[in-house]
Amino acid sequence: MAVLALAVAMTAVDEWVERLEDAGELTPEAVDRIVGVHGTRGQQAIEAVGERRVKEYRDFTVVVGHEDEYVVEDGGCTCADSEYNLNREDPDELCWHAIAARIAAAIDATDEHDMWYSDVRDFL
Ligand SMILES: [Zn+2]
Repeated sequence: MAVLALAVAMTAVDEWVERLEDAGELTPEAVDRIVGVHGTRGQQAIEAVGERRVKEYRDFTVVVGHEDEYVVEDGGCTCADSEYNLNREDPDELCWHAIAARIAAAIDATDEHDMWYSDVRDFL
């Protein structure tokens, strides 16, 4: 399985992103795949997208968690999970905020805000 994965240039994340882009929605198959690759993080991400908790500002994508908001930039995130638990060398290891941002972007399910997050975050 590892050999097979190396032979294919696409990562598991690229694969499900492409699947979502093709379908334009979270199909049951895509949900299975995302949860299969990411486990609980995948489930949390899908839930967040369903509740439109992925906010697209002019400058950043922000994912609203239960206690805080997280800025996702270039697939990276500011949360503790990203910082302490994930292997940065592995493109398939993403925190649930980064997964949610990828899902929402792929199926156009972001909640768009025509403003700068850097301006509004102080008021939140
Ligand atoms: Zn995160």
